[in-house]
Amino acid sequence: MKKVVIIGGGVSGLSAGIYAQQMGYETEIYEKNPMVGGECTGWNRQGYHIDNCIHWLTGCQKQDDLYSVWNNVGVLDDDVKLYREDYIYMLEMDGVKLHLWRDIEKARKEFLSIAPEDSAEINKFFDNVKLAECVRVPFEKAQTDMNFIEFMKFVMPMKNMTKVMNEYGQESVKDFAERFKNPYVKAIMGKYFSESFLAYTLITSYAFLSSSTAAIPMGGSVSLVNRMIKRYNDLGGKIFTNKSAEKVNIVNGKAESVSFADGSEVSCNYVICATDTSVTFSKLLPEEYMPKNLKTLYKETKGYRVSSGFHVSFGVVGSEPCSPKGATIFPCEKFKVGKQTCDFMGTRMYDYDESLFPSDKRVIQCNFLQDEEDYEYWKNLYADRERYNAEKKRIADDVEKRIIKQFPELEGRLKLLCTYSPYTFTKWCGAYKGAYMSFYEQKGYKALTMKNKMKGLSNVILAGQWTAMNGGLPVAVTSGKFAAQKLPKIKSR
Ligand SMILES: Cc1cc2nc3c(=O)[nH]c(=O)nc-3n(C[C@H](O)[C@H](O)[C@H](O)COP(=O)(O)OP(=O)(O)OC[C@H]3O[C@@H](n4cnc5c(N)ncnc54)[C@H](O)[C@@H]3O)c2cc1C
Repeated sequence: MKKVVIIGGGVSGLSAGIYAQQMGYETEIYEKNPMVGGECTGWNRQGYHIDNCIHWLTGCQKQDDLYSVWNNVGVLDDDVKLYREDYIYMLEMDGVKLHLWRDIEKARKEFLSIAPEDSAEINKFFDNVKLAECVRVPFEKAQTDMNFIEFMKFVMPMKNMTKVMNEYGQESVKDFAERFKNPYVKAIMGKYFSESFLAYTLITSYAFLSSSTAAIPMGGSVSLVNRMIKRYNDLGGKIFTNKSAEKVNIVNGKAESVSFADGSEVSCNYVICATDTSVTFSKLLPEEYMPKNLKTLYKETKGYRVSSGFHVSFGVVGSEPCSPKGATIFPCEKFKVGKQTCDFMGTRMYDYDESLFPSDKRVIQCNFLQDEEDYEYWKNLYADRERYNAEKKRIADDVEKRIIKQFPELEGRLKLLCTYSPYTFTKWCGAYKGAYMSFYEQKGYKALTMKNKMKGLSNVILAGQWTAMNGGLPVAVTSGKFAAQKLPKIKSR
């Protein structure tokens, strides 16, 4: 049997393991943490559950191409119940409530009644969300491995996206919000995503919800990963935790073994690096092997950015009904998070899954988007642990005050569970600049694709969300599949 060593037990590593086992390989996953899952994780605090990852998972309908991948890795089947939110998020401002309803026509009606002066732009926006419902990620083959016909077969069903990109593909969220005169419409469009994102990200994210491809599988992030672990173990795969890989040992352009921080070494026929690519090329492999486009993404810091978050989680004490439902944004008294001054904030109520958030154990999470400068701030602050912790507590107190001002019924009912900064993700899984998704392009820059094989290295393959732009769970799971597909077919005896 040929042995494949997979470094990194996130969703991409588990996916690579499942697909490679199905091809007949003997695989082993080595994960540096005590548990697998990587960024797709959750944890318990004071009797409450914090679901770190899944706000939405795309590919949740049986007719979605991606469903077949989720189904194959054990994540989705008929037994997994799904929750679909009524709206992607809502704005509460000056007593006005405005929702981006899953039902686009309901949302359009609400927007037009609040802002008739913006009817042309409002109609254009909702029409484009409808058009963007065609967006897919590659699921059969990586884009870089497609021939012309395969590529056309992949892009043709997405031809409506060309119109969306022509309209919003080169406009930042900030500029996009300026299209609207009405202050509430301006706020809902401009204050949820980072101002530097391109406007089409808002449109496609909304389209994922409106088309129903996005949903939340019950049991959340931890159950999702547990189902993958079960599928992998059932296929005979082996997982080793607390094993931090230090180096892929290469002899004459071929990986022969992997060395670990505990001094051990494992030999192999193939290696799949399913680690954050910043870990892969700063530690496991010499940087010279880095694919060209990936190099560009790291170097062109003006054109390609990453985003992270500062999170504050509260438990809601008691089971009496309370606001805010779903994801809500609202204006607030100015305060600082990282290097940024916030005059808006958002909350998200976790109450949709009895198994994780029973009625007396609901959780409110607040995520403040942070950029690369904020990341440096948190990283430097972490060197002085006392100041780092004090700053996190200061922000949590400021956040609590603002939530209570907006939702007075929560007075005395919020219990601080935890705060975590972008640097937490670097410590946990080596996330580049604490990012939870991979690179996104800025105005004037093109999206780039990259190969998962490296020149001069015959038996090492890359997987993980950083092997494509924008990242997320769909990219992670398909990248694992694409990596396994690069292994030679095993001849049946
Ligand atoms: C707060 C947050 C919210 C998110 N929400 C969503 C969402 O709603 N929908 C969505 O689609 N995506 C979401 N994502 C993104 C999603 O979690 C990631 O895209 C996905 O989990 C990445 O998987 P991965 O396997 O590529 O990488 P990772 O999860 O980073 O896995 C890499 C693994 O490698 C391990 N590792 C690192 N170095 C070593 C080493 N030297 N040796 C051994 N192991 C090592 C790490 O510990 C980690 O387990 C979110 C992420 C975050 C952080």
